Amino acid sequence: MAQVQRMSRLMIKTLRDDPADAETLNHKLLVRAGYVRRTAAGIWSWLPLGKKVLENVIRVVREEMDAIGGQEVLLPALLPKDPYEASGRYDEYGDLLFRLQDRKGSDYLLGPTHEEIFTQVVKDMCSSYKDLPVILYQIQTKYRDEARPRAGVLRGREFQMKDSYSFDTTDEGLVEAYQLHRAAYIRIFERLGLDHRIVSAVSGAMGGSASEEFLAPAPAGEDTFVDCPNCDYAANTEAVTFNATAGDASGIGPVEELDTPDTPTIETLAAHLGVPASATLKNLLVKVDGEIVAVGVPGDREVDLGKLGEHLAPAVVELVTAEDFVGRPDLVRGYVGPQGLEKVRYIADPRVAAGTAWITGANKDGKHAKNVVAGRDFEVDDYLDVVVVEAGDPCPKCGTGLQVDRAIEIGHIFQLGRKYADIFALDVLGQQGKPVRVTMGSYGIGVSRAVAALAEQTADDKGLCWPREVAPADVHVVAAGKALQTELALDVSEKLGAAGLRVLVDDRAGVSPGVKFTDSELIGVPKILVAGRRSAEGVLELKDRRTGEREELTVDEAIARLTQQQD
Ligand code: ATP
Ligand code: MG
Repeated sequence: MAQVQRMSRLMIKTLRDDPADAETLNHKLLVRAGYVRRTAAGIWSWLPLGKKVLENVIRVVREEMDAIGGQEVLLPALLPKDPYEASGRYDEYGDLLFRLQDRKGSDYLLGPTHEEIFTQVVKDMCSSYKDLPVILYQIQTKYRDEARPRAGVLRGREFQMKDSYSFDTTDEGLVEAYQLHRAAYIRIFERLGLDHRIVSAVSGAMGGSASEEFLAPAPAGEDTFVDCPNCDYAANTEAVTFNATAGDASGIGPVEELDTPDTPTIETLAAHLGVPASATLKNLLVKVDGEIVAVGVPGDREVDLGKLGEHLAPAVVELVTAEDFVGRPDLVRGYVGPQGLEKVRYIADPRVAAGTAWITGANKDGKHAKNVVAGRDFEVDDYLDVVVVEAGDPCPKCGTGLQVDRAIEIGHIFQLGRKYADIFALDVLGQQGKPVRVTMGSYGIGVSRAVAALAEQTADDKGLCWPREVAPADVHVVAAGKALQTELALDVSEKLGAAGLRVLVDDRAGVSPGVKFTDSELIGVPKILVAGRRSAEGVLELKDRRTGEREELTVDEAIARLTQQQD
């Protein structure tokens, strides 16, 4: 049943000015247009229009989750400590977890995510392979004591999440549940009108498809990712790989020592020799589980320690300190070169490919060496992608220069495997009559964050600009002010409502037409229908909020146009 919402009876107060603490577009506009209201840092109240948008997002998520066979449940947000103690996450979460006690002094927490509790529910409810597979989901309030709650509902300390969990007896079953979620997420974000990219969440070690993130490109985002302007390649900055091509060292003479006093940094060396930093080879010393290892990258590039750490995990990577050089005459600080580094493992970026020639340290104080060729004068023990990715780096798929962009993480899908099933001994009786350990996936969508992401992607300088599927109404009817105009506006609103459209009608008395127009653009309903100058003739003006296109229509024409339009 479609409805007509009269603004004269709607609890709304629009603001001309941005809230003082707001840095991002969604924060400013959602507050100014009266969708949300800050209750405390990272804790938000959803007002009538905001609740409508949130419910629309939830409806789309629910329909697509149901379509893949998900069963909706609702688990508590207030949770006992024990299951999280068993998984180790009670401590691992650190300050992120809201912890509390009941009147008897028993420990509780407010759920940040629910793998533990879902595992227990399935252990309770499912005992045979015949009970599986299952996909369970909920749309529920989550709690995380984020260090920097910011950007409005984009990063809350209390927020809405759709979390789902798949339970299977086989690895193939898990992959299938994962693919079902992946496809459902694509449909959800397409229906919501959210521009998004799917990127592998981890590099190398864990395998490409075990975990992927859905990113909504937006300047307010806290994630950086790379995007190819030419092909469909997109990746987390940590996951970008470089396709090396071997150099040709045939014309390069033997290693030659250079006198380079007081040049312990790449900058001083490049300036002294008058060469670009990219002609030099930088060798960073780190400790891997206590052992000194050298990492070689072109002199104009930085080592991404996070990336290096991920490649070498579970080994621990640390920077070296002055003490590490004691008793190591082979390591000359500031003048290290891979040639003659016999006792040290040498890791290099693929750019230091076999046959490439470099200027690098000569392992003597104040001296460098030139014509140092990879594969000829030194060996690389391991090639790993370790440099910080930069805009313009070649796309590993098509070679085009990559863009580095910011994005909002709106969803995450993850093949967990048997981690939680092992912790809680989640077995079912298999076909052969023996217990089988269950394998799990977990999948999240930031439902309230999606509202913020949509606002970020669609707003313009006048205000919010919702896609129809999530908009708080299909059409915003504005009565310019005179009695006749209000009468026409209410009449056409009734008819539009009867035709199945969701209508917001600005019938406020004593509010100037200018304020009403400004408000309608701020609120961002996709179609604006104005009862103005030609109301006496029964002619209205229909405006598209996004394009600004206008046309004059009779009541019947307006109804026909609005009920036909599908966008
Ligand atoms: P982030 O890196 O942004 O903190 P996360 O990796 O902690 O996200 P998950 O634990 O995978 O996120 O949670 C699933 C989804 O919940 C995320 O993809 C995101 O859309 C949403 N989400 C996570 N934290 C918040 C938050 N503080 N406020 C709003 N939404 C959030
Ligand atoms: Mg987080």
